[in-house]
Amino acid sequence: MIFPLGSTIGAWGCSIALWIAPTLWSPLQGDAPSLPATAPIELGECARCGDSGDVECTACAKTTCTWTGEGKTPAVFCSQAADCKQCLGTRRVACKSCERGPSVATQKLRTDTEAWLAKMRKIDEVVGVKAVHGESAHFRITWNIKQVDAKGGSTPHGGMHVYLDRLEALYADFLVDLSAVDKDFCDKTHVMLWQSEKDQKRASIAFTGQDSSTESKLMGKSPVVSIFYDKSHLHEEFELHQAMVHQTAHCLLSNVFDGIWPGNIKGGWIDCGLAHAYEVRYFGSVRHYCYVEADTMQAFQFGRWEQAVLSGVQSGKDLRFLGITGRNTTELSPEEHMYAWSYCDYLMRAHPGKFGAIAKGVKARESYAELLKRVLGVTLGEFQDAWAKWVKDTYSPKKKPR
Ligand SMILES: [Zn+2]
Ligand SMILES: [Zn+2]
Ligand SMILES: [Zn+2]
Ligand SMILES: [Zn+2]
Repeated sequence: MIFPLGSTIGAWGCSIALWIAPTLWSPLQGDAPSLPATAPIELGECARCGDSGDVECTACAKTTCTWTGEGKTPAVFCSQAADCKQCLGTRRVACKSCERGPSVATQKLRTDTEAWLAKMRKIDEVVGVKAVHGESAHFRITWNIKQVDAKGGSTPHGGMHVYLDRLEALYADFLVDLSAVDKDFCDKTHVMLWQSEKDQKRASIAFTGQDSSTESKLMGKSPVVSIFYDKSHLHEEFELHQAMVHQTAHCLLSNVFDGIWPGNIKGGWIDCGLAHAYEVRYFGSVRHYCYVEADTMQAFQFGRWEQAVLSGVQSGKDLRFLGITGRNTTELSPEEHMYAWSYCDYLMRAHPGKFGAIAKGVKARESYAELLKRVLGVTLGEFQDAWAKWVKDTYSPKKKPR
């Protein structure tokens, strides 16, 4: 990608406006005889551009992206901004009062934006739509949904930014939970959200390598997730948000540290448990499974899991840690999903700062006896007992309404 992970350009235009390009005049100050015979440009002579070589774009002053949102990490690219033919969303155009030409920074941003937009428009070609695209420090997003019932989401462009900000909010939590930093990630996760099933089908095959009319994802070094906003399944707007959080958590975990998805190397418990942990944390309950048949989902009660795990522990019917740690994501039963969540919940809340080391060990296929000893200093038996005690002390026996 154009920008290394963690780089930010800042809000559109802001950082660019401060730039004065020294390279434009510095070569002319020497006495090299081979220089072209043009007169050196005097400093301070252009009142219009302040000698930066570029001025604010007026063509898109009223139409372009002015999204500032509530997110701490602003968009780096936005297709609506980039659609301005004059400035490509850089908000700077060449000064017509002098011949300095746009600053190096503006030129670079133009080139980068052009390349980015071309890449995004290829996605449109494949799917057969003109979607809105955005990119922030840690995500790319492709959005073809007319509107969502969320503040700022009444247009496709607004909806895209709302969801991009939400992705960055998830990322901030993920960094803390996994004790990770930007450079631990192999690439940005690309999230695609579609209003029509037809879009989903085309995108899922082309970009996630799976034929899915609902939700699909590509895990590992360069993750992609594609979700159909199916109103018959995701009735409320927050359910789309919840689906995105769940799927993106899978992607981030598969990407961080090594690009290894634990879900198909018998680490299904951490793959699903973490995705559910964000559902419970943000939305109060679990609605989302991957790969589980609809009839199995109905047989197993969705909703708050604290109560169910607590009564499992109290009645001695709980699923033991080693019983669920030997399975791939596709092999986990609904009940195993619930206990996978609880073990992840316990690790994150009772052992802050250790979950990242546990995840690394799972991805490296370390044995659980060694991993727990090394990271937490406990035996398997001690871990099991400590989890059960913590569940009894922590989980609520009452079913709290949303
Ligand atoms: Zn000028
Ligand atoms: Zn413009
Ligand atoms: Zn925008
Ligand atoms: Zn899942």
